[in-house]
Amino acid sequence: MNRIEPPPQQHQRMAQSALAAPDARPERSFHGLAVSAGVAIGPVFGTTEPEAVIARHKIQASDIGAESGRLEAAIVQSRKQLAKLRAKLALLPEESQSQIAPLIDAYIQMLGPSRLLRGVRARIAETLLSAETAVLTEAAAIAAAIMAQAEPGLPAEDRAGLQRRADEIGEIGRRLVRNLTRSPFRSFAGLPEGSILVAESLRPADAALLDPSRLAGVVTDEGGADGHTAVMLRALGVPAVLGATGLAHAMQPGDIAVVDGSAGTVTLNPSATTMTAAKRSVTAFARERQRYAKLRRLPAVTMDGEPVELQANLELPVELPLIVQSGAVGIGLLRTEFLFMNRETVPDEATQAESYRTIVEAMNGDPVTIRVLDWGGEKEIEALTLAGVVPEIADTNPALGLRGIRLLLRCPDLLETQLSAILRASMSGPVRVLLPMVTTVGEVRAAREIYERVARRLRRRGERIPEKLPPMGIMIETPGAALSADALALEADFFAIGTNDLTAYTLAVDRAESDVAALYDPMHPAVLRLVQFAAEAALRMRMPVSICGELAAAPRLTPLLLGLGIRSLSMNASAVPRVKQMVRSVQIDACVRFARRVMEQGDADRIRALVDGFGKDV
Ligand code: PEP
Ligand code: MG
Repeated sequence: MNRIEPPPQQHQRMAQSALAAPDARPERSFHGLAVSAGVAIGPVFGTTEPEAVIARHKIQASDIGAESGRLEAAIVQSRKQLAKLRAKLALLPEESQSQIAPLIDAYIQMLGPSRLLRGVRARIAETLLSAETAVLTEAAAIAAAIMAQAEPGLPAEDRAGLQRRADEIGEIGRRLVRNLTRSPFRSFAGLPEGSILVAESLRPADAALLDPSRLAGVVTDEGGADGHTAVMLRALGVPAVLGATGLAHAMQPGDIAVVDGSAGTVTLNPSATTMTAAKRSVTAFARERQRYAKLRRLPAVTMDGEPVELQANLELPVELPLIVQSGAVGIGLLRTEFLFMNRETVPDEATQAESYRTIVEAMNGDPVTIRVLDWGGEKEIEALTLAGVVPEIADTNPALGLRGIRLLLRCPDLLETQLSAILRASMSGPVRVLLPMVTTVGEVRAAREIYERVARRLRRRGERIPEKLPPMGIMIETPGAALSADALALEADFFAIGTNDLTAYTLAVDRAESDVAALYDPMHPAVLRLVQFAAEAALRMRMPVSICGELAAAPRLTPLLLGLGIRSLSMNASAVPRVKQMVRSVQIDACVRFARRVMEQGDADRIRALVDGFGKDV
């Protein structure tokens, strides 16, 4: 087995500069979604996107139409992003609004009939430059012309004004190029140790590049509580607040921030009192973790002796030490998307087999459920775009498009390669295969046929694979799958209920969208009824069923889930001890009675009140 060293405790880390004399700027508070627990104190680090990789500088005359079309689409997208930001500013205190709004307005104006856009259009049509090159060249020319007005002797204030205008042009140019190239591979190499990363938005692929041992916290303007970026940040154990509107534009280099990932607040330039309270919270959080660490070796058994399987979700290999430390008994959901992110080519069978093998070996005999690629929705993967597997322009409605198993059955090579790699890795320890986004029995049958074909091929090749193929199960993450769970149970070997997508699809709420974050509610009775329906279908067949969505990580919901008959939960590693503590404090009878009462309710708020009052007889 590979030896795994635990990472340092990122929650307690504080950059030296955070302890420097308090800044003269006034304290300002921002509110967002509490997505990853813990308190972090540190200097802010604003990310700018990396220099875009521009594949083409010149175009043919015959491409002018298409290139101009790309530019216009990027302008529309940029305008939409800024308009959304502008609308959200209304949530901020007036003082903050008055500082940020003029900046956003200036950007929006530049995306109207401006000299910048006139120049860019002309460069495409007349000098045959690609849209990206035209934007960068024109923006640089305008910025240079502005700075040329800064003659020697110009008062510092006027010079700063010119510089600001030049910077604004540069910023809008970068936004356009970002939207033109959908710039891959952000680099966080320059991130000073112990700092708080602040960004307008962070894609799951960006989050995958973060090094949790160097980072104190993360704050973004955009994002939903159970979007994949949030899931990754939780997995990394980095205190994080998403959807903190206005912060990315309000912060200045050198600012200190306090991020409370449990309360969902961010304080810029904290006063001495705020700082003292924050330091106290950091210590309290560290103590709590120490307390939970003691649970690691204790079994997850209810007071009346019912064992419950508590496993971890893994989205990035850096989480392995946390998983091993957490006391999780195996991995209930290995999201394989990380393998495909931040690279230009699709990983081959050998590369994938090696990655899976490392993880399986690290679990030292505990089972690992490997989910095949779940591309789609907000999970963009450049390698697939570059390989021409998926279109460059996203569907109008990507969450309802070619996602998960749908793409894999359309591109069987992808699925075959991945299944071959998983089968090879399964010689190193117990493995299960999980199919994402299943909605029909036909999809399971088709995937199984491919699975068996792949196994036959590997055997012919002389590859060692298990005699009995590892079980093949499915995610239940759409209302369609949940409601046909009885039929799906005849085809699948196990169910993993994905409450994140199940909530999103049931309530028609984008899980990564801050505008509708308040409507994203896994405790909505419709979601819980679907969970119950699917769980009962599995239990009737005596088929294993687990929950691997974020619902599984909430200890307050453990009694309800146990009461519904669930005995297997998979969650981010840091939640395992808290859920274990809850498991060890309840009796199954009481959970069953409680679940019956909860499932009679039609109102999410009433359910929440009952859940919070469990054991207190509300
Ligand atoms: C889910 O949808 O609940 C799930 C576990 O899958 P993911 O979060 O990767 O979409
Ligand atoms: Mg899902």
